[in-house]
Order: sequence, then C-alpha cells, then structure tokens
Amino acid sequence: MKVTDHIAQAKDTLVSFEILPPLKGKTINSIYEHLDPLMEFKPSFINVTYHRSETMFKKKADGSFDKVEVRKRPGTVAICAAIMNHYKTDAVPHLICGGFSKRETEDALIDLNFLGINNVLALRGDAAKNEAHFEPEADGHNYAIDLIKQVMNLKNGIYLEEDIKNGGKPDFCIGTAGYPEKHFEAPNLQTDLIRLKEKVDAGADYIMTQMFFDNQKFFQFVKDCKAMGINVPIIPGLKPITNKKQLSILPKIFHVDIPSDLSNAILKTKTDEEVEKIGTEWLIQQSKELKKFGVPVLHYYTLGKPKVIYNVVKEVL
Ligand code: FAD
Repeated sequence: MKVTDHIAQAKDTLVSFEILPPLKGKTINSIYEHLDPLMEFKPSFINVTYHRSETMFKKKADGSFDKVEVRKRPGTVAICAAIMNHYKTDAVPHLICGGFSKRETEDALIDLNFLGINNVLALRGDAAKNEAHFEPEADGHNYAIDLIKQVMNLKNGIYLEEDIKNGGKPDFCIGTAGYPEKHFEAPNLQTDLIRLKEKVDAGADYIMTQMFFDNQKFFQFVKDCKAMGINVPIIPGLKPITNKKQLSILPKIFHVDIPSDLSNAILKTKTDEEVEKIGTEWLIQQSKELKKFGVPVLHYYTLGKPKVIYNVVKEVL
C-alpha cells in the first residue's frame, strides 16, 4: 500500500521506522533482530536507506595502490523485499541520483515494480566521500526533482527507450526530502522552500523531513510550506541523542541545531546511560507534542538504537 493511502485511511497518528542496510558481511537476520521488537507497534511502513559506493585505495604487495569502488552497505532493494515478505509490512526504499545513470534508475524502478514495491523516497544523495560537491553520473540526475520527473514519466508509461509503446505504468508513491532548518547548500530557507515546492509540483506525494530537535522549527516549516501552497502531507523525521559526541557530530553531518536546554542537560552528564535517558525523554516530549499538533506519521530514524526507539514509542502511542 502507498504511504499516502496509509495516511488517508488513518484514524490517528501513524508510526514508521527507518533502518540502514547492515554492513556487508552481516546477514538478513541482523535486520530482523533490529526490527522484531519494533513490530509490536505495527509500523505503517519501514524505510531503508541507500548508500552509494565509496572509493578506496587498497595497498598491493608491491607497495602501490589499487583504486576500488566498495559498497559497505549494499542490499536496499533486497531488504525492502525481505521486509515485505517477512512482516507483510510496506517498505520504502530510498532511491538516490548519486552513482546512478538514468538507465540504471529506470531498471531499478522496474525491479521495484516487479517486486511489488510501490513506494520510493526520491533523493539526490550527498557528494561522494572523495568529492567536494555533488557530481552526478555522466548520464545521471543533478537534483532530486529530475529523479521525481523520471519516476513520473514511468508512471505515465514513458520509458527512456522511445520505441517502448504501450508499456506498463508502474504506479509509485513518491516521497521527497524537506529541511525545517534548510538544506545546507541552499542560500536561504525561502529558496530551499521554492525548490521543495517545485519537487511537489513535479509529482512528490509527501514530504519527509530531516531530523530536528526543536519542534518550533518544524511548526514554522509546516506554516511556511502551507503559505507557499504546498499541501501534501509532511512527515517529521525523528532521532534520539544517545551520546555526548552527537552534540557536535549531528550539527556537522546533518546541519541541524540542538536546543540549548537539551545540550546543557547533556553536557552535565557523566555517562552515556545518562545521555540516553535525557535523549529518550526529550524525544518522548517532542513526539507527544507533534502528535498533538496532528502530524500524519511519526517517523523514527532507528540507526542502531531500536531499544531507545522502543522506549519512546511505547510512551507515545
Ligand atoms: P535536492 O532536492 O536535489 O536539493 C539539493 C540542494 O539543491 C538543496 O540545497 C536545494 O535547495 C537545491 N536545489 C534543488 N533543486 C534545485 C535546482 N533545480 N536548481 C538549483 N538548486 C536546486 N542520502 C543518501 O545518500 N541516502 C539516503 O538514504 C538518504 N535518506 C535521506 C532521508 C531523508 C528523510 C532526508 C531528509 C535526507 C536523506 N539523505 C539520504 C540525504 C540527502 O540525500 C541529502 O540531504 C542531499 O544533500 C540532498 O538531497 P535532496 O533529495 O534533498 O536534494
């Protein structure tokens, strides 16, 4: 079922989870072990992130180096299929522009359709680790909007091979990313919102946000989106802080602010257990307030912390 159908049929706030594919070498059981306890909350869907390959240099016996492309976390599509089969719960693969030509994207969409997966979160992806800026593939997409347009074309039976006439029309529900605190490359929030509106006008069915720790920023974002004429559902992305290092790592990687009430409380702690307690309580209060505000779904980034998410959702639903 599509994410938007789940939302349309819901009587109350829904819950969904996001997982990372395991590091190469681990089995699918690591996914089930991670998700099993969370399935008690009957998530409407589970997102699986996509991780592009990284360039690595492997030292050879003669001292020279081989340049190799390594995917540390492969398996996004297969994990989605496994989740749908194992739990009978919808899975949402993240699909990125980075590392994909348009033809590879089309083939990936055909694979998803054959597997019965009719949801995608369409993203640009970040720059590769060895690049200063995002560089698309030679025949790839520059921005998420171009990927959304390709999915929309396929929905209308328009394939890259022009001689395919009367082909299938895979019907995808398309999610897009939104940033309550602005995407880091955007010159300002207003420009970023214009880009977001363009993605929605191009065919995105709903917005899923970057994590945030201050609900006021999300409320203002929703207000600004409405003022701009964006009327699709906006799903907040939520993550707990579980150790002190995240006070600097999260702003650096995700370009989000941590409210001083939260950072001050965490700075006073002596152990990670204390931090986890504060982070859990903060996320419970955040979730309760968002539920009261009427968000359609509470989407939790579980990122290796299923127990914390379990403790939060138990208090919120
Ligand atoms: P875009 O919408 O293309 O925006 C990128 C930047 O370009 C923005 O600053 C925007 O304002 C600007 N822009 C957009 N369109 C135009 C245009 N036409 N002309 C000029 N400027 C433009 N990354 C992964 O690699 N894998 C994942 O699984 C993943 N999951 C994510 C899930 C969520 C919910 C979120 C919020 C992010 C996720 N990301 C993931 C990170 C994401 O790929 C990065 O934030 C990336 O830098 C931007 O992606 P986007 O889809 O928002 O890009």
